[in-house]
Order: sequence, then C-alpha cells, then structure tokens
Amino acid sequence: MKKVLCTAAIVVLGAMLFMLFKNAVNLSGEGKKAEDTEKKRLSTRPFHLSELTPQAGFTAEGGQGTDKILGSDVKISGTVVIDAGHGGKDMGCSFDGTDEKDVNLLVALGVKERLETAGVEVILTRSSDEFVSLEDRANLANASEADCFVSIHCNSFEDETVSGLEGYWFKSEKGKSLSESILRQAGGNLINVRKTKEEDYFVLRETAMPATLIEIGYLSNENEREMLKSSKYQSTVSASIAEGILDWLSCN
Ligand SMILES: [Zn+2]
Repeated sequence: MKKVLCTAAIVVLGAMLFMLFKNAVNLSGEGKKAEDTEKKRLSTRPFHLSELTPQAGFTAEGGQGTDKILGSDVKISGTVVIDAGHGGKDMGCSFDGTDEKDVNLLVALGVKERLETAGVEVILTRSSDEFVSLEDRANLANASEADCFVSIHCNSFEDETVSGLEGYWFKSEKGKSLSESILRQAGGNLINVRKTKEEDYFVLRETAMPATLIEIGYLSNENEREMLKSSKYQSTVSASIAEGILDWLSCN
C-alpha cells in the first residue's frame, strides 16, 4: 500500500513539474502569445501614478515640473494646432454616459497649457463644446501656417477587450515621426500604447502641415474608459502628447 501511495505521489509531482516546464517554454518560445498576455496585463491592470517615471514636467499631482523640456528654463518656438475631435451635436463615440467629445476637449486643453508653458503658440480648433466641421478644422489649420497639427480622439470597437493608445498619419514622413514621437512619450509614461498606422482621415489628408491623429484610448473598453474619465489619467495623456510634440519640434 505504501508503495502504491509513493508511486502516486511521484506521478503527481512529475505532472506538476511537466506543467511548470511547459509554461516556461510557452513564455519564452512563443513570443506572440507572451506579447498578447503582456498586452492584456497592461490593458487590464489598474493604473498607478506612482509607477510613472519622473520626466518631462509631469508630477504625481499632474502639474508642471522643472524638466528640461516642459520646464520654464527651456523655450521651444513653434505654432501647433490642437484639434479636439467632435463637439456640440457631434458626440463622437458614447459609452456608459461618457461622450468622446468631452474627453477629447479636456485632454486638448491640457496639451495647450503644457505647450504654452514651454513657449509654443497653440491654436485650438475648438475651445468649448461646439460643433466645428472637418473642413473648418483643416481650413483653420492651413490658414495658421502652423508647424504641425494634432487631432485628439477616443476610439471604440465592437470587441470590448481591445485597448490602447494609437497614432495615425497620412502620406507624410514627418506626420509619421510626429505620431511616433507622441507614442514614444506615452509609452515612457506607462500608457498602454497599441500601434501607429497610416490612415486616410480627412483632417490628415486635408491639412498642409505634418499631422497626426491620436486615438488616446478605447471608450468601448471598460477599464480604459474608467481611466479616460479620470483627471489624473487625462493629465498623463496630455503631458505625453505635449512632450511628444515638443520633442518633435526640437528636431524638425
Ligand atoms: Zn473620434
């Protein structure tokens, strides 16, 4: 009887070791699977401001720091058009009582404040909850002869598990580099960054200067929606977009 129990114990132990080994192989060998798991982890875990790397003017309170880029010691010249997507009768996407147009505007105003502190002139396509057509947005930008154009939107998708900040550009290497610069800063601030992609969006196609459209997150994803509604997270996104623009302006 003892021998039987002992054999059973060895078999169970062996099975456990096999499972552990199998998991280890999966994590290291199947990169895609691990990447997906990581993406899932980043998109579902709660966001903690204390995890932020202190950089580029961002403080836990969301105020301006004394960093080399966003601080008052270094000024970067330039003119930037910040475009808060939708507005007025055009809500953008809407989930659980949160309208995209409102989040877009709050983040756009945060970007404006940060850029102006750094010495950059900012033109907003809208500064309140008003409807502005896509044509008027592009016309305003083109008349301003700004250095770049950054449109701010929130995303939505039928698959509610999809999450992450995305950057778009259209037929412009400089638009692409602007987009990548913003995503780099967002990633550095531990924002869940998904991808950059070329897309034929009206405001990207019709603006004469380097332009990017940033989808700051998915309102259709419950976890990301809760973050997008919080002023602290909006502040982190605003800081990331401003840092990305300043970094791009300083080398263009
Ligand atoms: Zn939108």
